[in-house]
Amino acid sequence: MNLAQITHVTTGLSPMKPHVLRILNSGSSSDHFVVLDIDDTLLVSMPGAVETVSAGMWVLRAAVDRNLDVFIVTARPDTPINTRFTRRELEAIGIFARDDHLYMRPPHINTPYGISVYKSSSRDDIEERTGKKCLLTVGDQWSDISIVNDEQYAVLSEHERGDYILTRLHQHGHGLKLNR
Ligand SMILES: [Mg+2]
Repeated sequence: MNLAQITHVTTGLSPMKPHVLRILNSGSSSDHFVVLDIDDTLLVSMPGAVETVSAGMWVLRAAVDRNLDVFIVTARPDTPINTRFTRRELEAIGIFARDDHLYMRPPHINTPYGISVYKSSSRDDIEERTGKKCLLTVGDQWSDISIVNDEQYAVLSEHERGDYILTRLHQHGHGLKLNR
């Protein structure tokens, strides 16, 4: 398992903010980008309602304020209906992601390991296409910020709730896992 190096753990968002801001302030719009997950990161995953997650929205605004390029990498399956629906939801919270800024999961990938590889590969793809480096990737699951192993994932999940966890990744800069 590649869980990367944990650098900070906090029980609330406020004590985590200075660490995240230090990372964002170290980036530049010409050289770096930020990646955000959607469900339980920007939007509460609840059918029928568009409710935002304050922690994810705070990171989004902090990144946009610094003119950092923001990409959305979601595990929502990539189908035409899903993509239209997802765009509408993102637009409702002020995110107008261009096609090349929205990554949706190939439907045949459906294990935690597979999803973590898809998310990591998406960050690789952004780096290759843009020539920029990933500064920070944010999500509510380990698979958002790291490569996870299917067998250990269930055990891991029991220990991941209630904390904000900041990691230094082997590639792709830093990862921020939101509490759940
Ligand atoms: Mg999520």
